[in-house]
Amino acid sequence: MIVVMRADATEVQVEQVVDTLKKFGFTAHLSKGVERTVIGAIGDKSGLDKRVIEMLPGVSELVPIRKPYKLVSREIHSKDSIIKISDQVSIGGNSPVVVMAGPCAVENETMIIEIAKTVKAAGATVLRGGAFKPRTSPYSFQGLGETGLKYMAQARKETGLPIATEVMDTRDVELVAKYADILQIGARNMQNFNLLKEVGKTKKPILLKRGPAATIEELLMSAEYIYAEGNPNIIFCERGIKTMENYTRNTLDLSAVPVIKSLSHLPVIADPSHGTGKWDLVEPMALAAVASGAHGLMIEVHPHPESAQSDGPQSLTYKNFTVLMQKVRAIEKVIRS
Ligand code: PEP
Ligand code: MN
Repeated sequence: MIVVMRADATEVQVEQVVDTLKKFGFTAHLSKGVERTVIGAIGDKSGLDKRVIEMLPGVSELVPIRKPYKLVSREIHSKDSIIKISDQVSIGGNSPVVVMAGPCAVENETMIIEIAKTVKAAGATVLRGGAFKPRTSPYSFQGLGETGLKYMAQARKETGLPIATEVMDTRDVELVAKYADILQIGARNMQNFNLLKEVGKTKKPILLKRGPAATIEELLMSAEYIYAEGNPNIIFCERGIKTMENYTRNTLDLSAVPVIKSLSHLPVIADPSHGTGKWDLVEPMALAAVASGAHGLMIEVHPHPESAQSDGPQSLTYKNFTVLMQKVRAIEKVIRS
């Protein structure tokens, strides 16, 4: 439930409400607005006589949260959350569209540095690249592991771009968090609840990708796991779902963007690379995603897609990425005006 404080409630009154909620076994999440403070109370309501809270000085009203997800919901936090990725880059609300670009997998140091410089020059704001790769086949390239993370860190050092990379295993969270600015939870791990809890214990921004067969509500519930552990820095990613359509690798569900924005205060980005699986569909779907209100994009870029170690068919060349970026910024201007 949400405890709405009166506009003239004092800090001491807010504290008293928080303390009382804790006494009843609730966790209290404070949201201070310009007009008033609201307190999200998460816990078992059965042992609580609501009047105990309603009677406290400074309390205006108690509002139940009807949705199964609480902390990530707009009901608890009506304004857009802005998540800081680095000193230069934030995502959410009216912040500029954040473009996370780079190869599917880090292949070698020279290449990742060259890619980082190129995508930065084209206007990307985050470097992406996998060091731990979730591959369908155990015989496919699995990524360079920690060596790949070191190459990513070197690319950050040379370009200033923050880096996003996937963590697949609870045992690697500490290691990946040591290098990465954004921890990516891949689509296949969206409901790996132990992994969600583990990244929830860090304070790093988490890029939570939608599972290929997950509903929007399931995606929001997964984010709730991370938030409930104490990490509110979550970015959703629509990356396509399985449908009967098999022309494309997945079906990019762009309506998820405005739906998620209406249900949650957290930012949402789209990944048209995995969403379509085809490089020539990446540009139109990226532009559509920005037009639909996405706070960012994830785009795979490779200098030689034909010889990429993974996901070459959906990777953009430098030239195509540069053209895309010009159009992205043009659409962004229109949609934000
Ligand atoms: C990726 O971003 O490299 C990736 C594996 O994506 P997904 O988890 O969406 O398949
Ligand atoms: Mn990929």
